[in-house]
Amino acid sequence: MSIADPKHDDTIAARTGVDGDIAFGAITPSPVMSTNFAFEAFNRKRPYDYTRSGNPTRDTLARAIAALERGDNAVITSSGMSALDLTFNLLRPADLIVAPHDCYGGTYRLLQARAEQERFRVHFADLTDPASHDAVFAQRPRMVLVETPSNPLLRITDIAALAQRARSQNTLLVADNTFLSPSLQKPLALGADIVVHSLTKYINGHGDVVGGAVVAKTAEWHERLAWWANVVGVTGAPFDSWLVLRGLRTLDLRIKAQSKSAATVARFLADHPLVKTVHYPGLPDHPGHQIAARQQTGFGAMLSFELADGCPVEAFLAALIQPGGPFSLAESLGGYESLIAHPATMTHASMDPEARRVAGISDRLLRVSIGLEAAQDLKSALKAAFSSVG
Ligand SMILES: *Cc1c(COP(=O)(O)O)cnc(C)c1O
Repeated sequence: MSIADPKHDDTIAARTGVDGDIAFGAITPSPVMSTNFAFEAFNRKRPYDYTRSGNPTRDTLARAIAALERGDNAVITSSGMSALDLTFNLLRPADLIVAPHDCYGGTYRLLQARAEQERFRVHFADLTDPASHDAVFAQRPRMVLVETPSNPLLRITDIAALAQRARSQNTLLVADNTFLSPSLQKPLALGADIVVHSLTKYINGHGDVVGGAVVAKTAEWHERLAWWANVVGVTGAPFDSWLVLRGLRTLDLRIKAQSKSAATVARFLADHPLVKTVHYPGLPDHPGHQIAARQQTGFGAMLSFELADGCPVEAFLAALIQPGGPFSLAESLGGYESLIAHPATMTHASMDPEARRVAGISDRLLRVSIGLEAAQDLKSALKAAFSSVG
């Protein structure tokens, strides 16, 4: 292994794009904002001509994310949703895609709407249940989408088991790795073909960019995805790419510290009499604990919990969300700040109540994204909110 080809995540995150400036020797890469690039001479194109098709800042970010995910290359897109839609572009009208029945709300809506347009066929299944895999693969899907841990119940799917089945019948396995980031899970190494990210979440981590990425295991898939991204014009903006690259430098430190606090908060909630259930893969009694311990290198910083019948949801949230307190009531996740959401009225409101019920998302469920505040302060705030309603 040459030093110029680092294989350790810390080095990839710290060094990608550094020292690359030929004109001034700038250490930190500057954002290249230009829309267009001059030709060297008649019919002699430089590496870049037009920013929709290619941009050096965006390419540096793509290289870093691809290296962290152990893929061939990545396409940086305008959002996580456009990254998913781009990936679904690989399907033809007769093709079937199988997706988790409790996938991200926006993904569910996108799949439904595209299937209605007859762009492809969609089937939703509980992929966390290995007993469902026979029926899933008997339908000969062209693509299977996996999201693990799932949102908002943090259910775990065995990626390697799905990958083995997928490979045996030429099905593309796509993993949405937004909830863990490449710091804690590497789906391509477990056998997936494509990884999708909402960069909006952990990878940027600073709550100031909406972006997405599609990482392909092979050059062939990358080429097709990059072709479509340019044709439909969903490539990410250079300045956003620069911000995400800046966020990515500290991804590993952030998500590990946040995961440690999440484990502390999960244990606190599990012991509280006003909490009915805690969904956190790091708890030994979580149904996916064993698989998570095997396929992840950490349990992550997302958790959800169901309030006990005696604990009113609205009053609890009103007591918890205090000015200057460590929780905000908001959607999104993966940033430096702790957020709490009520899936039934917020993130999963576009799902009909029956679909929510089937997916196990009760009206008493709260989802938490643990940030970088001191775990002690997070616990104290929760404790005070419980005492005020209990
Ligand atoms: C947020 C999110 C998306 C969508 O990403 P945007 O950047 O908001 O478009 C997709 N999948 C998961 C798991 C997400 O959390």
